[in-house]
Amino acid sequence: MDVVLLLIGLAGGLAAWSLVEYLAHRFSMHRPVVRFDPIAREHRRHHRDPLATDLRLRLIGHGAGYALGAVIGLALAFVMAAPVAYGVGFGLAAGYSTYELVHWCSHHRPARTRYGVALRRRHDAHHHGHPGANYGVSTAVWDRVFGTVAPIGSIRDRRPARP
Ligand SMILES: [Zn+2]
Ligand SMILES: [Zn+2]
Repeated sequence: MDVVLLLIGLAGGLAAWSLVEYLAHRFSMHRPVVRFDPIAREHRRHHRDPLATDLRLRLIGHGAGYALGAVIGLALAFVMAAPVAYGVGFGLAAGYSTYELVHWCSHHRPARTRYGVALRRRHDAHHHGHPGANYGVSTAVWDRVFGTVAPIGSIRDRRPARP
């Protein structure tokens, strides 16, 4: 029974992450860089040079994601069944890691599956001509919900778009 509750929490955490991913990309990473905004600044750098990867930053991100997921899971355990809460915390962290992996692969590895090709095309459109669309990297669900899907086959050129 605990395993079922854990899996329910895990699914909820993964789903919640996909929304966080969309909202963070749309409203935090693409906001104009103000005086001190390391997230927007890093994302602007990513748009200028999508192949530049700071592996230390990636590792810190994964570690921080799991630490934050653990804190969220422990905090949620005060208001819901512990297995669900821990599942949500782990799902959020695993969602973040999946997003990072999918994003990295979309720039550095050839797509090998039909789903991978679709994800890569979507993200290419975001980088090349449509920085105001296709905010979801690991899923297109929230772009469909909020109407920010770039037209298919609409990549205007291969130059990176400014965020
Ligand atoms: Zn990218
Ligand atoms: Zn972007």
